[in-house]
Amino acid sequence: MKHNHISTGADLAMATVAPTSNNPAVASNHTENSEVKTWRGCLYLRISKEDGDKEESESITNQRALLLGHAEKLPGVTIVATKVDDGWSGANFQRPAFIEMMEEIRAGKIDCVLVKDLTRFGRNFGESGKYIEHVFPFLGVRFISVNDGIDSANKKGRSDDIVVPFLNLISDAYCRDISIKIRSQLETKRRKGDFVGAFAVYGYKRGDDSEVGYNRNRLLVDDPAADVVKMIFQWKLDGLSADAVANKLNTLGIPSPMAYKKLQGLNFSTSFAISGSANAKWSAMAVFRILKDETYTGTLVQGKVATPNHKVKKKFQKPTADWARVDGMHEPIINIGDFNLVQRLLERDTRISPKDGESVYPFSGMARCGMCGENMVRKTSHSNGKTYVYLVCCRKCKGSRIKEDLLAECVKLALQSHIDNIMNLDRVLRFIEELPLKQDEVQKLDGQIAAKRAEMERYEALVMSLYENMESGIINQAEYRQMKTRYNALHADAEQAINSLNREIADIINIGGEKNRWIEQFKEYQNFGELSRRMVVSLVDAVTVHPGNKLDLLFRYRYDYERCISFVRAVGQLHDISTVGTGAVGAVSTQSTKEAV
Ligand SMILES: [Zn+2]
Repeated sequence: MKHNHISTGADLAMATVAPTSNNPAVASNHTENSEVKTWRGCLYLRISKEDGDKEESESITNQRALLLGHAEKLPGVTIVATKVDDGWSGANFQRPAFIEMMEEIRAGKIDCVLVKDLTRFGRNFGESGKYIEHVFPFLGVRFISVNDGIDSANKKGRSDDIVVPFLNLISDAYCRDISIKIRSQLETKRRKGDFVGAFAVYGYKRGDDSEVGYNRNRLLVDDPAADVVKMIFQWKLDGLSADAVANKLNTLGIPSPMAYKKLQGLNFSTSFAISGSANAKWSAMAVFRILKDETYTGTLVQGKVATPNHKVKKKFQKPTADWARVDGMHEPIINIGDFNLVQRLLERDTRISPKDGESVYPFSGMARCGMCGENMVRKTSHSNGKTYVYLVCCRKCKGSRIKEDLLAECVKLALQSHIDNIMNLDRVLRFIEELPLKQDEVQKLDGQIAAKRAEMERYEALVMSLYENMESGIINQAEYRQMKTRYNALHADAEQAINSLNREIADIINIGGEKNRWIEQFKEYQNFGELSRRMVVSLVDAVTVHPGNKLDLLFRYRYDYERCISFVRAVGQLHDISTVGTGAVGAVSTQSTKEAV
C-alpha cells in the first residue's frame, strides 16, 4: 500500500519559521480560535494476555478510571462512548471494538480518541502511525495518549510529529522479542602511558615519589595554575579573544607561566598572592598555547610511549612522527567538550578582529556566502539616525546579505525546534534503555561470565592436582610442564573472555550515556533565552546565506543524530515497518532551510 510520508524532513525544517522583515519571529499559526471547541470523546480500552499485559496494572477498570480522570480536566471534551477490546492483541487492528469505533468516527459520532498509552492503541508501529498521523488528522479526530503526553490538539511546533512515531516504534519493538546487540563501533582502547617529559605543562606538576600512591611519571593537578587555566578557557568560551584574555590576566596581576615557574623555583609556593613581575607578562601566544594543549583534557600527548601495556615494564622509543596519545592518564582540568569547543572557536576566530577587542560576534566566521562560499562579514550602516547591522559577502556578491538580527532570530527558531527534536530522541533512547530486552541481554552475558569463571576455577584446580599427579607418578615431569602450560593458557583465555564480556556489558549499559554525550550539548541549551556565540559555535556547523534571505543551516553532531535515529529504527526493524520507514525517520532533518524574507 502506497501513501504519503507521515511527515517529511522538508516539512519539518521549513515549518517553524516564516518571518517577515519587520518581525522575524512571527509564527505562522498564532491566529487560533479563542472559543473552546467541543469534542465528542471515546475511550478506547484494550487488554491482552498475548501481549504480556499484566492483569493488575492494565486492567480495563484501571484504564477507564485513568482516562475518565484525564478527560475531566480537558475543557470541551465530553465522553460519549467507551470501546473495549478485551483479549485482543495489539499486533493488528482487526479488533471488534476498534472497528466499531472507526465506524462511529466516520459517521461523525466521535471526534476524539483517548487511550492510556500507545501500546493500548496498537503495538504495530506501521499501522499505528498510519492512524495517528494520517487517518485521524484527515478525519479531524483529536488523539490523546495520556501516559505518553500526546494530545494532537496542543501541538507545539511540529515536534510531536516526531515523537508519536518514535514512541510507536518503541511499543512495537517492545511487543516483539527482539534482542539487540549494542556494541560500540570503536572499542575503547586503554593503554598505559607515563609522562616522561622533563617539565610538566602549566597547570600540572610532576608526581612526587614521597606521596603515597603517586609516582614521578604521573601528572598531578597544580591547583593555583589549574585555576588560571580554567579561567582562560572560560573567558575564551565567553567570547574573549586571546589578546583580551592576556590583557585581563595581566591586569589581574597573574604571573605568566614563565614567571610562575621562576617563582616556584624560588620556593614561592603560593605565588599567586604576589603580583607578577613586569618582565614576564602574558601574551596572546602564551594564551593560545594553553588553549590548544590537549593535556588539559587528561590526555597525555607526547612523542614517546613508555610501556606498551601494563604487563610489560620495558620502555621503548617511538618515532616522533608517531605521537602517542594516551587518554585518562591524569586528572583533566578542562572537560573534553569545552576543549573541543575552544578548538572550534580558535579556528573560526582567526579572521575576526572586532573593534572593541573584547568579544566576538555570534556569527563571526560562521556564516558563508551561498554564491561564492566565502565568509560573510559584518557591516554597519546608518540611516535616519538608526544603526543597521548586516552580514555581507566579503567578496561583495550581490544578493548575499542579511540583517544580523534577522539571521539571529531564524537561527534561534531553527535551533529551538531542533533541540525539541533531540529532547524527544533523548526520551526515546532512555525509554529503550529501560526495555527488558536490554536487561535480558545483560543477564545473558552475565551467565556467560559465570561460566567462564567456573572454567577458570577448574583449570586452577587441574594445575593444583598436576603436581600431586607427578608426585604419585601418574605423569612425568615433561608431561607435568606441558600440561601446566596448556592449562595456564586456557585459564588466560577464559580470563580474556571475561574481560571482553564485561566490556560488552559496559557498551550495552552505555548506549544512553557516554556515547550520546552530544545530546548533553543540546540539552544544555534546552531553555535558552538569547543566542550566544558559545551556543552558536556549540550547536551549529555552518550557516549559508543565499540570495533572497534564504538560509541553510547545518547542525553539529548530525551524524551522531542520524546514528541514534538509525539505532532507534533498528530496534523496530525486525518487523515490517516499510510503510513508515521514510516517514518516521525522514521526518528528522539535520539540515534546515529557512526562508527569511
Ligand atoms: Zn559571495
